[in-house]
Amino acid sequence: MKFYDAHNHLHDDRFGGRQAELVAACRGAGVARMVVNGSCEADWPRVAALAREFPDLVVPSFGYHPWYVGERMPRWRETLVEFLDRTPGAVVGEIGLDRWKPGLAYHGQEEVFLAQLRLAAERDLAASIHCLQTWGRLLELLRTTPRPARGFLLHSYGGPAEMVAPLAKLGARFSFPGWFMHERKARQRAAFKLVPADRLLIETDAPDQLLPDAANANPLTDTSTGKPLNHPANLPAVYQFMAELRGVPLAELTAQVEENVRRLFTARVIDTVANAQTLPA
Ligand SMILES: [Zn+2]
Repeated sequence: MKFYDAHNHLHDDRFGGRQAELVAACRGAGVARMVVNGSCEADWPRVAALAREFPDLVVPSFGYHPWYVGERMPRWRETLVEFLDRTPGAVVGEIGLDRWKPGLAYHGQEEVFLAQLRLAAERDLAASIHCLQTWGRLLELLRTTPRPARGFLLHSYGGPAEMVAPLAKLGARFSFPGWFMHERKARQRAAFKLVPADRLLIETDAPDQLLPDAANANPLTDTSTGKPLNHPANLPAVYQFMAELRGVPLAELTAQVEENVRRLFTARVIDTVANAQTLPA
């Protein structure tokens, strides 16, 4: 069985340089591909390096996350364009809007988000969107801004169940993290029961969004702080949970998610490879 991680941060510092080890464990667990999201300019070279090192596994994604927009350099957009242009198969993310994080300024977030959404739309690249407590405004902006024709991902969708249908109409995909397996996340699980099968994706968001201990087959700690980290090889456990939540056989879910990932993220990669093979050397 092949598993696809729609959203993680394999480049994250907290992994302490153990990426090759994590990748080996992921391959052993059946992880076929993962979308690795850089969240600010400092991340992008590391995401590009992982894509070069593990080209069959890593889908590189570059974006400015709302938590870091205050740190952006004057030429951030040009730098982003360079990474998108130079990295084969690159997509856009993590981008978004956040009114939840205490002390985080909202000012500037929309401008940066919209500039990146437009880039994704112009190039028809998938965009991975983070949204916390800004759902109404996000819907409004998505309705009035060009969007990628292939669609976009609402990672760790935690918005209202009633918004699944209007967002899906605009091209949204919804990815479910292991974090929503915690008992108290019943509201989020209820929303995921309403996600159309062809719009459903699964993610780890590793090293964040740790799943419950009972399901954590890959305990991992941040060696500098001693805090627990989510291992990207926990992905199959999240699939298993989702299959049970939606009452579908695991094999059916994996086949559906594979197709959903291919359509949103990797069709261009496959096309690029196919084209490259037919081009003269
Ligand atoms: Zn993330």
